[in-house]
Formats: sequence, C-alpha cells, structure tokens
Amino acid sequence: MNNSISYKVAVVCWLVLITSFIQAGELPLANAERMKNRIIALSHFGKNVHGGVDRTAFSDADISGRAYISALMRDAGLDVHIDYAGNIIGRRAGTQPLFAPIMFGSHTDSVPGGGNYDGDVGVIGALEAIELLNTGNIVTRHPLEMIVFADEEGSMVGNMALVGIFSADALSNGSSSGFTLGDGVDRIGGDQTKIKQARRSTPIHAFVELHIEQGGFLDEKSLDIGIVEGIVGIHWWDVVVKGVANHGGTTPMPGRRDALVAASKLVIGINDRATTMPGRQVATVGKIQAFPGAPNVIPGKVEFSLEIRDLETEKINQVFEVIKGEARAVEEEMNVEITFEALTPHLRPAPTDVRIRRLIEQSVSTLDLSYQHMPSGAGHDAQNMAPITPTGMIFVPSRGGISHSPMEYTAPHDMANGADVLLRTILKLDETEFE
Ligand SMILES: [Zn+2]
Repeated sequence: MNNSISYKVAVVCWLVLITSFIQAGELPLANAERMKNRIIALSHFGKNVHGGVDRTAFSDADISGRAYISALMRDAGLDVHIDYAGNIIGRRAGTQPLFAPIMFGSHTDSVPGGGNYDGDVGVIGALEAIELLNTGNIVTRHPLEMIVFADEEGSMVGNMALVGIFSADALSNGSSSGFTLGDGVDRIGGDQTKIKQARRSTPIHAFVELHIEQGGFLDEKSLDIGIVEGIVGIHWWDVVVKGVANHGGTTPMPGRRDALVAASKLVIGINDRATTMPGRQVATVGKIQAFPGAPNVIPGKVEFSLEIRDLETEKINQVFEVIKGEARAVEEEMNVEITFEALTPHLRPAPTDVRIRRLIEQSVSTLDLSYQHMPSGAGHDAQNMAPITPTGMIFVPSRGGISHSPMEYTAPHDMANGADVLLRTILKLDETEFE
C-alpha cells in the first residue's frame, strides 16, 4: 500500500468514526433527575402513611394522578384524548400520517398498598422518550402514541377493550376502589356504553412497554436491562387428597391413611421437581386446607392449590405430568387417592416479538449497558397487546426484587437507562417494516 492510499484509508476510517459518533451523540440522553422528580410528584396522589400509594383504578387518587400525567403529556406537545375504555392516549404526528402508529406506555394505577414504580416508570419513561425527541428535534415517520392504560392492576379493562377481548358483561363487576367497572370507566373519562368501540380497528405498528422487573434477578446480577422474552402462561389446579379420617388417639401410627401427611409429601415433591427439572418453570402450592380440621382427628381429606407458570404451555404440561407421577408414588406409599381438577381458563403465555427483542438488544448495546434475556413472571399490559401487534418489553432493576409494596424502588439512573433504551427501540422500529 503506498502512502497516498493509506492516507485515504485513514481519512475514510476517521470519517466513518466521526459520523457514527455524531449519530450516537445526536440523540440526547434521558434526564434521570427529571424522571425522579416526576415519580416523586406522581407519588403524592394516593400517598399512604407507609410511603407507598393507594392509587387503585377509578379512585380519586387515580383520577388526580392521571390528570397530572395528562398535563405533562400536553406540555410535551402531545395531542391527548381518553378513549371509551378510559385509556389516556397522547399522539405525536409522524411525517407519514398514514403509517400505523408505534405505541408505548404502561399504567399509573396501583394495587392497594402499592409502590411508586410499578407502571409509573413505564409511563414517566414513555414521557421522557417524547421529551428527548422534542429536545433533539426528531420527527419519526410513524405517528407515535403514548398510552396510559386503565386499571392494569384490577380488570385490565384498558388493554382488553383496546384489543377487543373485553366482555361488556364484566362492566357490573366490582373493583378495589368500590365502584363497578362500568362506573369506574365513566369516572376516568371513558364511556361504558361505548366500550366496544374502544377496540382498535386500524393496525398498530408495534407496542413497547418499559417496566420495573418486580423480581430480583437484574438487581442480584447487577445487570442494567432485562429484555423480556414473554409473559409466562399460568395453569391452576385444585388438588384433593383422600385418605381416611380416624381417631387421633386410638389409631396406631402404622397403617394410618393420613391425607395431610400424604399432601405434605406431595407438596415437597412438587417443589423438588420444579426446582430440579431443567428450565425456568415455577410451581407453587399457595393454599391448603385439612378436613375435618380438628386437633384430635387424623385428616381424611386435604385440598390444596397448584399453580405452574412457564413461557411455554408445553413445558407447563410437562411439569404437570412429572407432578402427577409424584402423586402416583405418594398414593402408593400412603394408601390415599389423589385427584387433580384443572381450573379454566388457563392464562396462555404471551411471547414478545423476537424481532423487537433484537432491536432492544441493539439499542442496549449502543448504550453500552449490560443485559439479559428473561421471562416475565408477572402479568402486564403487554401480554394482551402481544396477540394483535409485534410487542416488546424492557425491564429495569427493582431493588431487592420487591414490588407491590411501599419498599418498591428503582434508582433514577436505572429509570434513565430504561428511557434511553425505549427511545432507541422506538427509533429503530420507525425504520423497520414488519411483514
Ligand atoms: Zn405494572
């Protein structure tokens, strides 16, 4: 290579470097302080003495919190309206008005005695992405729609009505705030008589939700971002163990057909098998009752709950088959009878879109953040969006894995990382056409 060629190569390399640097530098970074202050401001609506919030859907606190967020959305230049289901939607025009919108957001309602980050980080993060687009004078091709879903923690009426799976029969159901769902929807600016029309009849390009992990995986491993592979499916069973009730004083130990001892062996078996089987399945016995339930009577019958969760229905079935095998062994050993009654409907797993996972991964990499692909063991708005549009989900760490509690905490820099990843993912989605 002569000198002039190597000089040209060096110049080209430099240009490429500078261009990519400028491109990366063009995008402003999220303002962690602003996000923190907005979380604190939002936490005043429904604040309780424990430092958490009681901002259950449709309550006065929910209405005030939503008004606070709506005002911020308008200040950020969004065209804000409330749909018939009570979802707040803020639209930012794109250069191609006929393109399907890119939707992103989460919820601001809480469980009773909830924390200040569940849902809120996704909403404040979505708002932050809008602020950064404004700062950077960036206009996307696709219109953008920031959404605050109605009643995520209770009925999921917001996302279900939007995707067209909400049954109007449920409008008379109660809610944590004491109002019926229908009256609640009316209270937050929806219209229960038109709830069917909340269904989106036009396509959505993609949906992305930023959320706190609500588990301890990222925090424990000191990882910045979780790329969610999907929201797990859940199957439930009622398990009945039948033995023989008898006198606790006069029946010798050998030969007893004690349903509770048999159930105990099975509960331990379920835990052992779910722990040692390869995979990330979880199985839980959360409720148990012995009959007749007297100190001096050998229990003749035990009823308990069984719940299995996994990203794949097939895996849930496999785990269940193994548990049934355990049950047969206990039946034999203890001379009892064990039956499983499946409760329906099952919650089907909602896998996220693998193409969006890749875009999130690329976004994380440009920011030099650490990450891990992972399932979500908790339910989210994204789970009902996934069947109708390519859906992605970004997790940020929850300190100590604590959620649905006043102890819930996500550090400002983690929230900012989440907003940065969300923004970059939105911009990549804007350049991606799905078939
Ligand atoms: Zn949530």
